[in-house]
Amino acid sequence: MNQEAHPHAGLVGPAGRAEDLLDRYSRSYLQVFGRPQRVLERGQGVRVWDVQGREYLDLLAGIAVNALGHSHPDLVAAIAEQAGQLIHTSNFFTTPTQVALAERLLGMAGAPAGSAVLFVNSGAEAIEAAIKLGRRTGRPGIITAQGAFHGRTTGALALTAKAAYREPFEPLLPGINRVPFGDEAALRAALDDQVGAVILEPIQGEGGVVPAPPGYLQSARELTREHGALLVLDEIQTGIGRTGTWFAFQQAGITPDAITLAKGLGGGFPIGALITFGPEVSGLLSAGQHGTTFGGNPLACAAGLAVLEVIERDGLLGAARTVGQAFTQAVAALQDPRITGVRGEGLLIGIGLAGPWAPHVATAALDRGFIVNAVREDTIRLAPPLIVQEDDMTSFALALPTLLDSIGGDG
Ligand SMILES: *Cc1c(COP(=O)(O)O)cnc(C)c1O
Repeated sequence: MNQEAHPHAGLVGPAGRAEDLLDRYSRSYLQVFGRPQRVLERGQGVRVWDVQGREYLDLLAGIAVNALGHSHPDLVAAIAEQAGQLIHTSNFFTTPTQVALAERLLGMAGAPAGSAVLFVNSGAEAIEAAIKLGRRTGRPGIITAQGAFHGRTTGALALTAKAAYREPFEPLLPGINRVPFGDEAALRAALDDQVGAVILEPIQGEGGVVPAPPGYLQSARELTREHGALLVLDEIQTGIGRTGTWFAFQQAGITPDAITLAKGLGGGFPIGALITFGPEVSGLLSAGQHGTTFGGNPLACAAGLAVLEVIERDGLLGAARTVGQAFTQAVAALQDPRITGVRGEGLLIGIGLAGPWAPHVATAALDRGFIVNAVREDTIRLAPPLIVQEDDMTSFALALPTLLDSIGGDG
């Protein structure tokens, strides 16, 4: 196949370069993502630039990943320094950075003695480890929620609700029971002595920024304890300060049996983690029962340490709460009937629309220099870098009526 550059007919300069790259992408890259919206080249703080030199305010942060924004000097320095020292070792060895990051996470989580961390490379891989943890209880069943998203590998996919993601690959892992999210009675009814684990997101992210109703996580904690099942909270999107505390479970005042992490942890460098709480749960997986070649390598751990240090040093947990609240107030002040409300916590934000306009709003926003996400037909999701300032958030709130006008949404 011809893989050479085909300069786009008639277009020259930066626009031609973008078209050329998109053409080459479509001829060389597996078509699982559809056509990319832009070709990005550079980022600084909360802004990114495409190959045509156009500037965007990044209010999505690589889907809740770039916690420190782009090219943060402390993250860049930590990665560069570690790369010059030791990049990879295999898990026959440990490193000072790996131990330091594990201890730091346990401290942040308020984990009791005997708790433990396993590093992996992605969210789905952390979920896979959680599935194996559940299986080691001796009970094969897993309860998940309708609307849940837990990843795309075949184990994680079995837990994911969206039929379009799952059905082309069935049969998947058996024994999965999907209950309505937030329904305590349904969870109670589904729990029996065959259920090894209940896996829930504290706020459903891909499902449309849907917070668990008050009291639900506490009920899930009590019910799983009564029935001898593990409570695993998927904090891949909500963790690492996204909701204004290190982990969302801390706002529910409970201790889960395990949590999964990824997205924000490396600030853009791939790293995921499973944290198991207490010696009993941590003892479920023993030597030889799980593994990963790259997981926990010193480069990824150095990135994770830098992210956590900056979040703490710069007070970004508190900032996530205050900036998120200010944004919610700015949207409410619009009093626009086409906007039904703002959901979420901290800087994981869903803007509810009164019609199926979100994809059009997101496209219009991009044309005006805002990166946001139509997570659902009726919901715009924002998950900006935790370093975002109030005025940048406000600029998007103030643009919303114009964006809605431009797509002809009425309400
Ligand atoms: C993104 C996400 C995953 C999957 O993470 P990957 O790194 O894409 O595998 C799993 N669970 C939740 C809640 C997520 O938001």
